[in-house]
Amino acid sequence: SLTSHYGGDLHNNYGNGVEHAKEIIGQAFKQRVDGVDGDTCEVGEEDAFFVADLGSVYRQHLRWKLNLPRIKPYYAVKCNPDAQVVRLLAALGTGFDCASKAEIEQVLKLGVEPHRIIYAQPCKTKSHVRYASQHDVKQMTFDNADELYKTKQLYPDAELFLRILTDDSASLCRLSLKFGASLNDTGDLLQLAKDLGLNVVGVAFHVGSGASDPEAFLKAVQDARFVFDQAAEIGFNLHTLDVGGGFVSESFENMAAVLSSALDANFPSSVRIIGEPGRYYVSSAFNIACHVIARRSIVDPVLCTQSYMLYLNDGVYGNFSSIMFDHQHPVPRILKSGDRFLYDSAENQDGCEFDAARAGGVTEYSVWGPTCDGIDCIAEKWTASEALEVGDWLYFEDMGAYTKCSATRFNGFTDAHDVVYVCSEPGAKALLAQ
Ligand code: PLP
Repeated sequence: SLTSHYGGDLHNNYGNGVEHAKEIIGQAFKQRVDGVDGDTCEVGEEDAFFVADLGSVYRQHLRWKLNLPRIKPYYAVKCNPDAQVVRLLAALGTGFDCASKAEIEQVLKLGVEPHRIIYAQPCKTKSHVRYASQHDVKQMTFDNADELYKTKQLYPDAELFLRILTDDSASLCRLSLKFGASLNDTGDLLQLAKDLGLNVVGVAFHVGSGASDPEAFLKAVQDARFVFDQAAEIGFNLHTLDVGGGFVSESFENMAAVLSSALDANFPSSVRIIGEPGRYYVSSAFNIACHVIARRSIVDPVLCTQSYMLYLNDGVYGNFSSIMFDHQHPVPRILKSGDRFLYDSAENQDGCEFDAARAGGVTEYSVWGPTCDGIDCIAEKWTASEALEVGDWLYFEDMGAYTKCSATRFNGFTDAHDVVYVCSEPGAKALLAQ
C-alpha cells in the first residue's frame, strides 16, 4: 500500500519535499531567466515557460489516498495532458479519464492497461468508439438514447456508466448544462439499455469543475443511489459509482469528508468507487514565467498620476486561456526586475490586488497579453512596489489546470511552451527514474 511503501510521508505534509519545493522552483526559474538576454537572444528564447514540480502532483496523490481511501482516482487527462504528469500518475497506479481517441492513445502508449481507462464522454465520435473497442477500453459513459444506439452498433459489450445531472450551480465551470440525464429520464434510458442487451455497470456524475458546495456531492450521491436501485429493478446489477471531478485543493479535506460519509451512508463497501479528479492534481504544480515585452505609460492629466500597461509574451489566447474558459484570475508576481531576482520574496507577498487606499508608494499596472485583441488582458489592475520595465519577468502560480491544454497559436505566437521539470519529492523522483 502507499502508506507502507512511503512510510511517514502521509503524515508529514503529505510528503517530505514541501519545505524545499519553493527553493528548487526558484532555482529553476533563475537558471532559465538568467540565461536570456532580451537584447541579443534568438527568437523564442525569451518565450514564456513553465516550471512544474512533479513532487506537488505526488503529494496531492498521497493526500487523496489519505482522505478518500475508498475512491480510486482516474486522472482527467484533459485538464493537463503533460507527458511527465501522466507518466508519474501511471507509475503511481491511478486510472485515467479520457475524452477522446488521442487521450486514450496517449495513456495506452505508456503501457497502462485498458481497464484503468474510462472513456468519460457521454457524446462520443463514432470512430473514437471504434478505436476504444479495438483497444479493449470498455468503460464509457452515456446520458442519452442516441448514444445507446451508437454503442449497440459499435461496441455492444462496452461497460456503460449512466451519467446523471447534478446541481452544479456553485461550481466554476458548469458541466451539467451540457451533460447528464435527469432522474426523470434515467428509468427510460436504463430500460432501453436493457432492451438493446447492453451492459450498464455503473452511474457517473460530475458536480462541476471547481466545485465549492459540498452539499452538491451529498445530493449527487443520493441521486446515484436512486439510480442504482432503479437499475436493480430493471435487472441490472450495478457495481461501480464514478463520482467525477470538481475537487479543489483549498477545500479538499472538507469536500472529502462530506463525500466519504455520503458514500458510506449510501453505498456498501462492495460497490467500487472511482473519481475523475483533474484540477486537484495539477493546478498548484505548474508555475509560469512571462517576459515583459513592451510597456506603455499612461498619464492622467487631471489626477496627475502615472500608471503603466505591461505587455507580456503570453495571454488569454495562450496559457492564460484559463481566464476565459476556466474563470480564473491569475495573480502577477515579480520574478526578475532589472538584476534583482524576486521569486517568493517580500515584494511579492502583498500589493498584488489593486487597493487604491494603499496605492501610495507603489506603481499601478494593467497586464496584457501579446495579441492584437483588446480582450487579451491578464489583470486589469495590479500594483507592485517595483518599477517594472521591458525585459523584466513576471511569474504566476497555480497554472497547471486548463491552461496549456487550451492555448492557441493566435497571432502567430507559439502554443508549445517549454516546461522545466523539478521534483521536490524523492518518492516521485524514484518512480520517474524507472
Ligand atoms: N470528468 C469529466 C467528465 C470532466 O468533464 C471533467 C472536467 O471537465 C473532469 C472529470 C475533471 O474535472 P476537475 O478538473 O474539476 O476535477
